[in-house]
Amino acid sequence: MKGSVSETIRSKIKAWYRKNRRDLPWRKTSDPYHIWVSEIILQQTRVSQGISHYLKFVSRFPDLKTLAAATEEDVLKTWQGMGYYTRARNLYKTAVLITNSYNGIFPGTPEELVKLPGIGSYTAAAIASIAYRYPVPTIDANVIRIIARLYGMQQDIHSVGLKKKIETLTMELLDQENPGEFNQAMMDFGSLQCTPGVPGCSSCPLNQYCKAHLTGMEDKIPMRKEKKKLQHRYFHYLVLTDHGHVWLHKRTGNDIWHSLYEFPLAEMPAGKQPDAESWYKATGISDIQPEKISKTYRHTLSHQMIHATFYQATIPPGNKQPGDELVRVPVQSIGTYPLPVLIARYLADSGTADYRQKG
Ligand code: SF4
Repeated sequence: MKGSVSETIRSKIKAWYRKNRRDLPWRKTSDPYHIWVSEIILQQTRVSQGISHYLKFVSRFPDLKTLAAATEEDVLKTWQGMGYYTRARNLYKTAVLITNSYNGIFPGTPEELVKLPGIGSYTAAAIASIAYRYPVPTIDANVIRIIARLYGMQQDIHSVGLKKKIETLTMELLDQENPGEFNQAMMDFGSLQCTPGVPGCSSCPLNQYCKAHLTGMEDKIPMRKEKKKLQHRYFHYLVLTDHGHVWLHKRTGNDIWHSLYEFPLAEMPAGKQPDAESWYKATGISDIQPEKISKTYRHTLSHQMIHATFYQATIPPGNKQPGDELVRVPVQSIGTYPLPVLIARYLADSGTADYRQKG
């Protein structure tokens, strides 16, 4: 969008705000103390409930000096009913810190503000822009939604790429003269006009500029890509030994652990145990009777949870050796083969030979 369009959008948002702004007690001041208290209260409290809490707090502690001179117990008592008491403890800590180390004056830049207890980047931007007219945008869910819709951004809301673009575009839209008022306008615009779900597009002053609205995508943006569901797989490994040797199998195909070695495997559906036929398929040997069964190991990969059980067995007398697809390895040499971490964990627990981890 060209600069002139940004200017038009900015002035329309400002005009909308002048008409629709919410009358909130902390909007009547530009004192950083009051802005700070209101922002901390609103971190985990709705605006409608935050008003009475804010009024109660600032009537008991009208300024930084009074708050810093109080006891923590007194602050917590006044905070009662708001929950998340860490916020109150941090308010008190920060008040004492500013009094002792900053001569009682609130720092005016976001960089300095974020160093204080309980102040994150959003709160720092809000205090700096509203109290000191520092040109920094406040970016919260409201702003992300407005910008993503205006510019028709179809990336996942959690993607780094989208975050970066939103930062750039919000900075471009920001009113440099009065950033605090513009940030508050965006907060109200997101809460009252460009709401989650079904926004009020028909009465929106930006509807002829808004890409999401012009393409009928307003209820789909911002987009949340569904998280891939974790797939559970049940691996049953046969630790088949014979005269100090064990058999390994090299994984191939389009699956996890390509080219790594594991024990002969029977992968079964949930709740199903392998039987003689499962072991026959895995080894080419019939009548295998496991002598010992391990606990179940759980191993998490990016989209899979492997539940693995290890069954110790020896080759039944008179039976032939497994086929060529399995490798016969001296137990002491398992460590020379690349093994998945899961197999290495089992080997470590069972005290089997020397080995090394391969992924
Ligand atoms: S037109 Fe609709 S989606 Fe676009 S900014 Fe306005 S309210 Fe939001």
